[in-house]
This record gives sequence, structure tokens and C-alpha cells, in this order.
Amino acid sequence: MKPEHSDRDRRSPRTRSRPAEAGTVGNSAARSFPGTLLVSKAIYLGLAGATLALAAVGHPHPGRGFLVEFGVGLGFVGFVMLAFQFALTAKFRWLSRLVGLDVLLHFHRQMGFFSYGFILLHVGILISAQPEYAAYLDFRVDVPRALALWTVLLALTAILVTTIWREDLGLSYEWWRISHAALAALILFIGLVHILRVGWYIADPWKQWLWVGGTAAAVGLLVYTRLVKPLRLRSRRWRVSKVRPEPGRSWTVTLEAVDHRGLTFEAGQFIWLILGRTPPTAIQHPFSISSSAAQEDVLEVTIKELGDHTSRIGEVKPGTVAFVEGPYGNFVLDDDVKEAVFVAGGVGITPVMSILRTLRDRGLPLPTLLIYGMPSLEDATFLGELEELEEEGSPPLTLVPVFEAPPQGWTGETGRITPKLLERRLPPDHPGVGYYVCGPEPMMDLVEKHLQEQGIPLSRIHSERFNIA
Ligand SMILES: Cc1cc2nc3c(=O)[nH]c(=O)nc-3n(C[C@H](O)[C@H](O)[C@H](O)COP(=O)(O)OP(=O)(O)OC[C@H]3O[C@@H](n4cnc5c(N)ncnc54)[C@H](O)[C@@H]3O)c2cc1C
Repeated sequence: MKPEHSDRDRRSPRTRSRPAEAGTVGNSAARSFPGTLLVSKAIYLGLAGATLALAAVGHPHPGRGFLVEFGVGLGFVGFVMLAFQFALTAKFRWLSRLVGLDVLLHFHRQMGFFSYGFILLHVGILISAQPEYAAYLDFRVDVPRALALWTVLLALTAILVTTIWREDLGLSYEWWRISHAALAALILFIGLVHILRVGWYIADPWKQWLWVGGTAAAVGLLVYTRLVKPLRLRSRRWRVSKVRPEPGRSWTVTLEAVDHRGLTFEAGQFIWLILGRTPPTAIQHPFSISSSAAQEDVLEVTIKELGDHTSRIGEVKPGTVAFVEGPYGNFVLDDDVKEAVFVAGGVGITPVMSILRTLRDRGLPLPTLLIYGMPSLEDATFLGELEELEEEGSPPLTLVPVFEAPPQGWTGETGRITPKLLERRLPPDHPGVGYYVCGPEPMMDLVEKHLQEQGIPLSRIHSERFNIA
């Protein structure tokens, strides 16, 4: 690593495109990430407790035995957890800035499995405790009720199956997303009607209004995320000004703001991009911004050809209308980082590029090390510019290219990024070092594991996973 510059202004805005405003989430907030997960779990426990306490308050009837009350409780908690799922996917920017979208969606997925399990157990336990409850599912007893409850059970199962086996089922991400939201809203609606009609614990009108209000708020969040937010994007158009090929079957798309000041973001963050369509649309994809945060009215994203959408990026014509939702994510430099270590693989270089370009444009001399894994020289996106940055020394950069298939005469690192390579190349750790990892899943798993084995706390390891589905 090159020598550390001690004269760096620690209070400078670093890679933000604007100084932090009072009240915004500062970089240090990202550091509390493990704590944030604990808080999320505490919130869920609190929710479950509050739900059960609410049911018990003012309830005049005696208990019906442990199993029945337990089964009913599971149903209530499962329903509330399901409703809360809408908040996790509401794309709150502050939340994604605090914990990162991948962590948030992982948590959403886990909680989804729990609520599915609780609701199934609710049915199973009640029927096994008192077999007469099976009448709820019996078409001969009450057709609308049985139809509604079977619909919930089938819809829940459909959500579970399509989430786990989406790719095997050949379901496109867009259709999965639409059906996921529609089924979840349907389940919530039927669940509410079921709770109100059974009415055992919520006979009081105020309780009924609370359940209706809570459910309406959850569905309202869905409408806000999928309709209101996208409609608001319409007034902030962008135009594609350039599409240029990059090595590694990638394309850099340049976007210019049309009649607005552009996007304020922190280097390393990502956007949801809509190309050639007007929101609301299901066709929007997340991409890290690769350009410098010093410029707000021109954005660049660098996109690798992968599936149906990205493999047609090269056909996008200059002049195409675009819409940008964001910025999101917490793959950004913390205020107190004195040295940054990046480990990137393939197209995972994009957020790192934005950070390095921003440090350069702002003249911030943060010492940086970049271990960059690439399949071959032909796939080496941005390698030329990175070598120039290293030569110019602004920011002080040590570049470690790692080629799986090295070019002839190459004397540097070869193969994949391994723990041995990391041991050789990582600088001595100290509390001022921030680690940033972005690339293929196996590489990220390996690097994260290695860093943790070295005793580096999670709060100093930032990851951006491109596979969130
Ligand atoms: C935070 C983040 C930043 C990213 N940054 C970049 C980047 O800078 N450059 C780059 O090339 N790629 C980036 N990606 C990956 C990029 O979003 C996917 O490659 C792209 O959406 C694939 O779309 P497709 O239709 O071509 O491929 P498909 O074959 O349809 O999908 C391939 C996989 O991409 C994911 N995916 C597809 N559509 C979506 C969607 N609408 N929303 C979320 N995930 C989806 C799914 O996991 C899917 O299995 C990023 C992803 C995330 C989550």
C-alpha cells in the first residue's frame, strides 16, 4: 500500500455528491449493521407480543385450552408478520442505506418462511386440538368460507414454491414479482376478513378498526411502492446520451438529466433503472452507478450481458427515455475510514469504480487497495482507467489484477481469489481499514469468510450482492 496521507480532512464530504445534511443518515449509521439486525428481530418479537397482548386486552371469555389458544396466537402473529413484509419491501431509501438491500431482502425472505410456517401451524394445531375446526375448510359446510381459506393456503404455498424454485419453473423475475405482490395482498385481505368474521378476540369495534387500519396501511405501502413512487418518477426524466461497449460483454450507458438537477448519491450506491418505458412498469433493474458522485446531472451505469433484459442493452439507442429510482444501498465509504480495501470480481467492479472516480474528482487522498479478479484480459472492464489512476496516484491506489486465464508474459497474480492470495495481499488490519467486497457469489462468500476469520468485525466489511432474488 502507498503511504497514508495524514492531512486528509476527516470532516470532508468524501464520496457523497453533497455534504450530509442535518438529519440524514450518516455513513457511520451503516456501521451499526449487526446491531440493526438485532433491532429488527426485537421489533418482530415486540410486534408478536403486542399482537397477543392486544388480543387479550378486554377479552371476556375464559381460555379454551393451551393448544387452541396457542394455535390462535400463531395465526395472529403469522398474519401480522405477513403484513409487516410489505414494509420491508417498500424500498425505503433510509432503510436500504442503513442495512443494505440484500440484507433487507434476505430478512424479508426468512420472515416470509416463518409467517408461512406459523399460519400452517395455526390451521394444523387447531384442527388437531379440536377436529370440529376442520369445518372451516369444508365446502359442504360453508362454500365461500372454505373457498377463501383454501385460497389462502394455496396462495401461500404458491408464494413459497415460486420463491424457492422460480428459475427452475422458468418464471421471469418480473412475473414472479407481480404475482408475489398480488398473492400477498390477496392473502392479507382474506386473512383480515377471516379474523373479523371469527371475531373471537376482536369483538370490540376499536380492535376491529385497528386490524382494518393496520392491514390497509400494509396494502397502502404496496400501492405506494408500486404505483405512487413510480408515478412521481415521471416528472424526472433522463435521456440516454451514449451507449459504449466495454470489455467483458458489458456496456456503459450514459444518462443525462432532462430539466432537473440530477441525482444526489453517495459513491457505491445503486439505482433501479427503467429504460425506454414510462413508470409504473415491472421492467426495472438494479444497477450500481459507476460514474463519479461529483457529477449529479450525468450518470453512468455499466451493465454486463446476462439475461433477457441486459443482453439487449447494446441495442439501446441514444435519445431513449430513462427513469432512475434511488439512490439505494450502503456500499459506501464510512466517514472514519482511513484506508479502503476493495475486493472486486467481474462486473462487481462498478460500485468500486464510482468510489475511486469520486475520490479522484474530489482530490481526496484516501489510500486504497483494489484486488480485482477477472476471467481474462478480454474481460477486464475498466482495467486501463484503473492503471491510469494507479499511475497518477490520486487517490493513492495499489492495483492487484488477478487473471484466471492470464495474458502471455503476465507475472502478476493468477487463478481465482483465494485465502492464500488474500493473506499475501491484504494490508495489516487496523480499526481504520474498511473492506468492500463485490463480485460473484462464491468469491464474496470466500472473502467475507476469510475477513471474519481474521477477526475483522462485520461493521467494517461492506458487501454488495448483485443477486438478491
Ligand atoms: C444492488 C445491485 C446492483 C447491481 N449492479 C449491477 C451493475 O452495476 N452491473 C450489472 O451488470 N449488473 C448489476 N446488477 C445485476 C443486475 O441487476 C442483473 O444482472 C439484471 O437485473 C439481470 O436482468 P436480466 O433480465 O438481463 O437477467 P435475468 O436472466 O432475467 O435475471 C438474472 C438474475 O438477475 C436478477 N434480476 C433479474 N431481474 C431483476 C430485477 N428486475 N430486479 C432485481 N434482480 C433482478 C435475478 O436474480 C435473476 O435471477 C446489480 C444487482 C443488484 C441487486
